[in-house]
Amino acid sequence: MSRVYNFNPGPAALPVSVLQQVKDELLDWRGHGMSVMEMSHRAEPFLTIAAEAEADLRRLLDIPDSYKVLFMQGGATGQFSAVPMNLRGARTSADYVVTGAWSQKAAREGAKYLDATVVARPDDDRFTYIPPFSGWALNDEAAFLHYTPNETVHGVEFHWTPKLEGVPLAADFSSSFLSRPINVRDYGVIYAGAQKNAGPAGLTVVIVREDLVGQSLGCCPLVLDYRTLAESGSMSNTPPTFAWYIAGLVFKWALDQGGLESMAAASERKSSRLYRYIDGEPFYENPVAISDRSRINVVFTLADSSLNDAFLQGAKLAGFAGLKGHRMVGGMRASLYNAVPEVAVDALIDYMQEFVRRRG
Ligand SMILES: *Cc1c(COP(=O)(O)O)cnc(C)c1O
Repeated sequence: MSRVYNFNPGPAALPVSVLQQVKDELLDWRGHGMSVMEMSHRAEPFLTIAAEAEADLRRLLDIPDSYKVLFMQGGATGQFSAVPMNLRGARTSADYVVTGAWSQKAAREGAKYLDATVVARPDDDRFTYIPPFSGWALNDEAAFLHYTPNETVHGVEFHWTPKLEGVPLAADFSSSFLSRPINVRDYGVIYAGAQKNAGPAGLTVVIVREDLVGQSLGCCPLVLDYRTLAESGSMSNTPPTFAWYIAGLVFKWALDQGGLESMAAASERKSSRLYRYIDGEPFYENPVAISDRSRINVVFTLADSSLNDAFLQGAKLAGFAGLKGHRMVGGMRASLYNAVPEVAVDALIDYMQEFVRRRG
């Protein structure tokens, strides 16, 4: 078996012990004589798998009983539509903070269902900083305020939580889900595509405050309707059972590692080590304001961009994957999700040093 150091932005690295367990249980899940893939979602044992995953996620994030946990499909992009369709209610507008590629997409999709007001965005389109809260042009009548705590493409992260009065906060946590403890009570709805930090693609986790459920627009598809999902245990139609099962194993893994405090500490160590190296080496540069740098997606450019291909080819030979930056930003990106071990970051820094010695 030969595994690479996987810095993919998503789908991304999963804990090896989880993959091993999936492999061990693949043909015969605990004496039931079939794979989880082959089980009915309405029968034991899948109902147990599903309930355990929810209970473990509730423990990990300390989710209050007044919040529903939904296991959905359609990705985070599906939630760009689901959030406005479920939360608009009698209101006509929602506020959007645009800090990078993903929050921009969310705002554009939201505009199909309501007046999506961009209340804050940086002065230019490089998205290298978070506009300070004091300058946000908030509306008291907004159905919600949407923001993206971690911008996966631009490598920008909120290290604070917007505090609003009366207007529910809607957060696309896809790439920083389970990377640090959060206070769920600060939010109206939290959602995350599982494929960054919580499992395989195909599952979207939604955590929504009970009182926001049940006011969806008439046009809301059944599969995106929070109430139908909440009332059916996320089984109003066939859920992504295999992805749900694997996410459940990832939740157990995170609990075994010491929970989100421990995930946060590791995330801090990995990202600060890489930023320290980049900041001390003139050949590499990170364009993001220091206070808004992402702990999860570290973007960097080479002093000579004509060496980009050589950097990536060398990286591939040295056993690294997923370092090419998004085409919107260029350069490189190392995504440091929970399942990326610290040795991978050390090895990457060694490679970056070696590259400067040879080509810099
Ligand atoms: C990856 C990502 C998305 C898109 O997720 P899909 O599941 O592919 O729709 C949206 N928002 C953020 C912050 C992401 O990282």
